[in-house]
Amino acid sequence: MSYPWTSEAWRQIRLRAGQGPCALLLTGPRGVGKRDLANRAAQAMLCAQAAEDGPACGACSSCRLFLADNHPDFRRLAPEEDLVEAGDEAPTEAKPAASRWIKIEQIRALSEFIHLSSHLRGLRVALVEPAERMQHASANALLKMLEEPPAQMRFLLVSDNPSRLLATVRSRCVNIRLRLPPAAEARAWLASQGTAQARLALAQAGDAPLAARDLDAPEYWEQRRMLLGALARRPVDACAIAEGITAPLLAPLLGHLWRWCYDLYSLRLGGRIRYNSDSAQILAVIADNISVNEFSEFLTQLVQAQRSAEHPLNPRLAAEQLLLRYARAVQGAS
Ligand SMILES: [Zn+2]
Repeated sequence: MSYPWTSEAWRQIRLRAGQGPCALLLTGPRGVGKRDLANRAAQAMLCAQAAEDGPACGACSSCRLFLADNHPDFRRLAPEEDLVEAGDEAPTEAKPAASRWIKIEQIRALSEFIHLSSHLRGLRVALVEPAERMQHASANALLKMLEEPPAQMRFLLVSDNPSRLLATVRSRCVNIRLRLPPAAEARAWLASQGTAQARLALAQAGDAPLAARDLDAPEYWEQRRMLLGALARRPVDACAIAEGITAPLLAPLLGHLWRWCYDLYSLRLGGRIRYNSDSAQILAVIADNISVNEFSEFLTQLVQAQRSAEHPLNPRLAAEQLLLRYARAVQGAS
């Protein structure tokens, strides 16, 4: 599916890819459609029928191979853990956890690939996503390929966080930046997709329309309703909230907590509510009484916890400690 706000980026990608070998780095906020755009662009570059700047036909033999994830002139590089199907078994001693990183072996295999001649006598495309998940050796190995790409080669790198890329890799790429659409356009699009509460979903997702669409799941709103209800109570019962928090629930919980606390802090500093406009009254009451210093320290801790939330040692304990800290930071509130 093509999204209206990505049409300019699409035009640039197709134009550059038509001019010769290139490495394109797609950046922009999470949930704006970078991955989808990169996939569509890769398919169109390989398609035998696509017009110069048009979409893939979806029907030729090249498109069929691409859609079956079996195109001989296409390589997708991603960390193992992104390639593992959801619902696979938990890691065991015999079967270690999938890597979070794009491994050097994957880059070496790519080096062999780019020097083969193309199977279907067209372009060869490599998609690297998320590109910031390369450690130094992998990034350096990729850099060598970007420096002297064969004539038929096109690289697509996708990153939410380009500042974490090796600067030399970044400078070898043409940056194509996707921007968030204006709120009214995003809301109209969400409504056309049948998303309920488009305005609130968009706010919750930091104005990123695809992220907002993906929130449209009853579990998300139910967890939010329960957590916000508990955070608004006096005193906050950290143990009760943390009870039953398992690994998959921790990151979403911290996300809700972060958005709630962001709004509190913003109000306290005289700013506006960004994420939870439906809770304006209670947020204002709590925000009035928080200590700016204590709350800002707590926010720092919360950000750190979010970074390690995907691999918590003890999710219940991690949640409880943060919520106790939250309870202390807002205890002046009544
Ligand atoms: Zn095609």
